[in-house]
Amino acid sequence: MIQPARMPLFLKQEGTESNIILKNISLTYNQSGKDIRALENVNLQLYSNDFVCVLGPSGCGKSSLLNIIAGYLTPSEGTVFIDGSPHTNPDPQVGVVFQQPNLLPWLNIEKNVEFGLKMKGMTKGRRVEIASHYLELVSLKDYAKLYPHQLSGGMKQRAAIARTLAANPKIILLDEPFSALDALTREKMQKHLYFIWQQTQKCLFFITHDVDEALLLGDRIIVMHSNPGRIVREYKNPVARPKEGDFRSIRLQKEFFEMREYLIDQIQEDDEKDE
Ligand code: ADP
Ligand code: MG
Repeated sequence: MIQPARMPLFLKQEGTESNIILKNISLTYNQSGKDIRALENVNLQLYSNDFVCVLGPSGCGKSSLLNIIAGYLTPSEGTVFIDGSPHTNPDPQVGVVFQQPNLLPWLNIEKNVEFGLKMKGMTKGRRVEIASHYLELVSLKDYAKLYPHQLSGGMKQRAAIARTLAANPKIILLDEPFSALDALTREKMQKHLYFIWQQTQKCLFFITHDVDEALLLGDRIIVMHSNPGRIVREYKNPVARPKEGDFRSIRLQKEFFEMREYLIDQIQEDDEKDE
């Protein structure tokens, strides 16, 4: 069994620059006069080419944290720094992929990917070039002229990822992006995303409540507990992922099922305390 002591806390990646720093982030919602402490004193550094999976039970503040990094929500205390400057509003450096792809139904896939670039005033030629590059990366090149309703759920979500990548953000935040998909599609999407990460070297901040998904994808795994929502542990993922090929065989590794058990115990520990 993997012992917690072998997993360093708040691991630093040597030699990589930290682009995004979350400093003492707390968030209190007020609902009908009652305070809900959604986040308490969250500290985190994100690096370029990081793949961070945030794991925790429902209601532990994962989406709230993502919304703060996205600039959609202002923390009650603390600051998010991007390249040393406080980040307080949505900005193109931070891309977001939600559970629903939210494509514009009246535009084809290519035009959906181009849409944000057009809004920025980019020339048609450059827009087409960028959209075609990212559609190829997400394996949708042959579907560029189709409309969202003509695509499967997984394809739509890949189009949404291409649209986010096209804006060239420093970091991409993903809030349980595959949880609305069936199990088989979900597995394919995990493989796609891992490949996309390897190709683009982007910093990905990926929220999930699925332990397997975190172990398949994340280089770092952050565990949150609730009441108040907080980070309790951070691990370097001990599971080896192939550069290409058989993603499914990852699950056969001893490290995979040992770490899986260990993480499930940690999450259950949080759930049980509320019973
Ligand atoms: P998660 O994404 O981990 O499920 P959330 O960030 O959505 O967690 O929610 C964290 C806590 O904050 C929960 O107790 C939730 O009920 C509460 N919460 C979330 N959004 C709001 C809101 N807009 N108003 C009041 N309470 C909220
Ligand atoms: Mg959520």
